[in-house]
Amino acid sequence: MNRKSFLQSAALTMGALAIQKTVLAGFFQQPAWKIKMLTDDIGIFTERGGTILFYLSTEGIVVVDSQFPDQSNHLIEELKKKTEQPFKLLINTHHHGDHSGGNIAFKGMVGHVLAHENSKANQERSAKTAKTEDKQLYPDQTFTSTWSEKIGKEKITLHYFGAGHTNGDALIHLEHANIVHMGDLLFNRRHPFVDRGAGANIKSWITVLEKAQKKFNKKTQFVYGHSAEGYEITGTSDDLKAFCEYLDKVLQFAESEIKAGKTKEEFIKTTVLPFETQWKGDGLARPLAAAYDELTAK
Ligand SMILES: [Zn+2]
Ligand SMILES: [Zn+2]
Repeated sequence: MNRKSFLQSAALTMGALAIQKTVLAGFFQQPAWKIKMLTDDIGIFTERGGTILFYLSTEGIVVVDSQFPDQSNHLIEELKKKTEQPFKLLINTHHHGDHSGGNIAFKGMVGHVLAHENSKANQERSAKTAKTEDKQLYPDQTFTSTWSEKIGKEKITLHYFGAGHTNGDALIHLEHANIVHMGDLLFNRRHPFVDRGAGANIKSWITVLEKAQKKFNKKTQFVYGHSAEGYEITGTSDDLKAFCEYLDKVLQFAESEIKAGKTKEEFIKTTVLPFETQWKGDGLARPLAAAYDELTAK
């Protein structure tokens, strides 16, 4: 081995060792979850599943979404270090397991669980089908179009603008801080899941996003259920506008392909959209199938 290649291979080995050491140290020392404060008393928690929002008020803790039981336990542990206040209210943006599966961790600990009435019905139906009823903590409070309550210095308002990702998606507005949790009404640059079985509708979803852009403003900080790698889980109404355009173009594309005589099977094999898009992920077939079904439904 000459000197140059010896140095190169030594550097490679050292590099590999260094990387391995960092990965191992990270694995053992750092928790898998992340907490980021958005204001003094409002923060987000991410680990596995839809983004959780929490508000540490002087009247108790408010949590929006619960991921899965392990993740909620991690969150509860972390929040107990930050405040001695009890858990006052748990809100679900919608019923999917990656947003409400952790509710059970709050059993006997939280004042109330709140969601849209359709979200509660969806959660009950899904749990019955999956035979996981014993693993659920269902909402004991529901709302239809709006719900509002002053908690600490915040006025928390829930809005329902119609079917979107499901037929029970709530937008949760913390008015004083002007922060809105969008749940899965916003997939930031990631191909969305469109749950037609739970009443999702792309056309209506576009209207919901338009209503949200009108209701909230340029200064509103939005929190998203999911994002593509390299994209944020918080942002501005520009992201809502971009997602609106994406959904609109997916529908238009489906319409033109249906007119051209493509079958659903052919259509969902599309790997690249024929229009400029930043949207990523391997889930393109899902919105395409949903658009096709929506347009051909009788
Ligand atoms: Zn989700
Ligand atoms: Zn969802």
